[in-house]
Amino acid sequence: MSLLELRELNKHFGGLHVTNGVNLTLEPGEIHCLIGPNGAGKSTLFRLILGEYHPGSGEIVFAGENITALKSFARIHRGLSVKFQVPGVFKGLSVRQNLEIALQIRHRGAELEAEIDRLLGFLGLESEQAQTAGNLSHGQKQWLEIGMAISLKPRLLLLDEPTAGMSPEETHMTGQMVQRLNAGGMTVLAIEHDMAFVRQVAQRVTVLHLGQVFAQGSIDEIVADERVAAIYLGQAHA
Ligand code: ADP
Ligand code: MG
Ligand code: MG
Repeated sequence: MSLLELRELNKHFGGLHVTNGVNLTLEPGEIHCLIGPNGAGKSTLFRLILGEYHPGSGEIVFAGENITALKSFARIHRGLSVKFQVPGVFKGLSVRQNLEIALQIRHRGAELEAEIDRLLGFLGLESEQAQTAGNLSHGQKQWLEIGMAISLKPRLLLLDEPTAGMSPEETHMTGQMVQRLNAGGMTVLAIEHDMAFVRQVAQRVTVLHLGQVFAQGSIDEIVADERVAAIYLGQAHA
């Protein structure tokens, strides 16, 4: 059974059709990257999957269940999690306190402290744990956000441009984190502009253009596709 199936998803704002019949299937255990020019509708698709937006028509099926009418919290309860483009950490609290807020939903007492330590280690933020989150570097803030997004151990993790603004080294480390999560069984769908990251992690790539699936394949198939190259011409970044 597929983990996620998007069937003919349509979302319009007034006359602007942002997603226009999106069909996309994610298999359990895959790392899938979603690319496409700015304004293609990628972030909107994530908001539809999480339930922040509701589609005008179409269906969202998660682990065999039609979740199209469910509210966000019910989708999160079923194992969906999102890290959006803009970091949403509590800037005035410490790194440790941020993770404590996320982890105390599931854990208490000594177990909570052990889970915080484990997550700090995973994120490489042990020595920053007493720092105020607002004082972290841009990359570290992104990692803290990933930590909060994975705190409930989701089955499907959605990442919206996780490496935006990162150095090549930070981008590579983020790729390694994603691969370790995936090795632990997590399915990942990542919106990305950085082709080095896509090449590092993606088992499959989907190109979204004008609110529709324009192409799909391995990274090598996608970069060799001249139709894909053509839709990026004239864009400030790919
Ligand atoms: P991407 O993430 O691929 O860059 P987005 O999904 O953010 O694209 O946006 C696609 C289009 O949808 C843009 O033209 C954007 O202005 C429009 N859009 C997104 N959200 C809204 C909204 N809430 N109201 C009106 N237009 C929106
Ligand atoms: Mg954009
Ligand atoms: Mg976006």
